[in-house]
Amino acid sequence: MNSFNPTRFFQYKKSVLTTEGVSISDLVNEYGTPLYVYSREAFLTPIRELQKGLAPLNFQICFAVKSNSNPSVLKMLGEAGVGMDLVSQGELFRVEKAGVAMDKVVFSGVGKTALEMAYALERKIYSFNVESVAELELLNEVARSKGIQARVALRFNPDVDAKTHPYISTGLKKNKFGLNRNEIIQIAKGLERLPNILLRGISIHIGSQILSLSPMKDSFSKLSALIKELEPLLPEALEFVDLGGGLGITYKNEKPPAVDKYCALIVKHFGPRSPYKNRLKVLVEPGRTISGNAGILVSRSLYRKKRGKKAFLIIDAAMNDLMRPALYGSYHEIIPVDQRRTKDSKIKTDIVGPVCESSDCFASDRSISSQLDTGDLVAILSAGAYGFSMTSNYNSRPRPTEVLVEGNKSRVIRERETYEDLVAKELY
Ligand SMILES: *Cc1c(COP(=O)(O)O)cnc(C)c1O
Repeated sequence: MNSFNPTRFFQYKKSVLTTEGVSISDLVNEYGTPLYVYSREAFLTPIRELQKGLAPLNFQICFAVKSNSNPSVLKMLGEAGVGMDLVSQGELFRVEKAGVAMDKVVFSGVGKTALEMAYALERKIYSFNVESVAELELLNEVARSKGIQARVALRFNPDVDAKTHPYISTGLKKNKFGLNRNEIIQIAKGLERLPNILLRGISIHIGSQILSLSPMKDSFSKLSALIKELEPLLPEALEFVDLGGGLGITYKNEKPPAVDKYCALIVKHFGPRSPYKNRLKVLVEPGRTISGNAGILVSRSLYRKKRGKKAFLIIDAAMNDLMRPALYGSYHEIIPVDQRRTKDSKIKTDIVGPVCESSDCFASDRSISSQLDTGDLVAILSAGAYGFSMTSNYNSRPRPTEVLVEGNKSRVIRERETYEDLVAKELY
């Protein structure tokens, strides 16, 4: 069973695309297009798989909020026992409003400001994942001004190649992320100069959409070797390791490692039979693994047109609604909402949005039914991660509605922006 199959939770029934017990075309009739549709089951399934696989450990799942920061999604995940991995004060603000326990929250990112640090310290988050010496010194200052200690994990850059898209590879020496071995050892040796820092863990995160366990294995081994060197230098043993996120999903025909295999690798390195004998708590920070295949973007076809030999289908969603294809050239499966539109002869077509940029293209030379035309609905699959969270108002386009399906019910979890919303902060 592969929970990452893009069509596992979005399937045709009686020729109409559905999720759980709800028809996608009914949702469009109610809420219009472009429309993000999420399935609760699709979010909760990988969480259950992670919880099962990590059960031998003292563990905490911290969802990477940047992958999908809708408040209803955060609340639902929080209620399932999931904590959060943040990269900004804005995300902390959202997570707090969603009622997530602060002792399950970690704050990552290379550019935390003093104001962000103060805000997160006041909320008593579990850990700051610190990425540079300068950041550590500033955090020490901010904590000192408040007369408290900051709980810290140092983010180790293990210099392993995650073999993913260069824009989402973070664990190489040349990347801006994390500290190397020497820097971490130097910090440990000089900790008495940072009395308001409580060093409790080491974190790693080597990249995103990782499709093989071997870079994970390499980074866990390097992390273990570092901890062995580091702990004798510390006033007290570490409390946790944070293994980051990055486990890939299926967009097209990728075969990512199964969640249970990924968990088994973690248990092997840090579990009851590892050298640590379950002494260290283990955090993981999955984003895409949980949200990626939990959402689709539904759009209506506006026009077909031909330019020389090329065929185009112009749809009412655009790069501002889903940026991944324009930003990374990434692949999304695109299927008609009415399955009968898949049966006739296919022609190679570019599926594009209305925005005035040539990169506003969801698919090039994609084989789609020659009948798909004005008015037909299409679903862009695997849009749950880095989809809505990357939206913008480019071309003055209001952001789309987001709907969450739970069993036979659906509810709006973010309303479509209005033109008044668009100009609400603007001055004349
Ligand atoms: C983005 C990010 C994640 C999540 O990555 P996914 O590929 O979505 O699992 C986890 N940890 C950190 C520090 C991140 O920046």
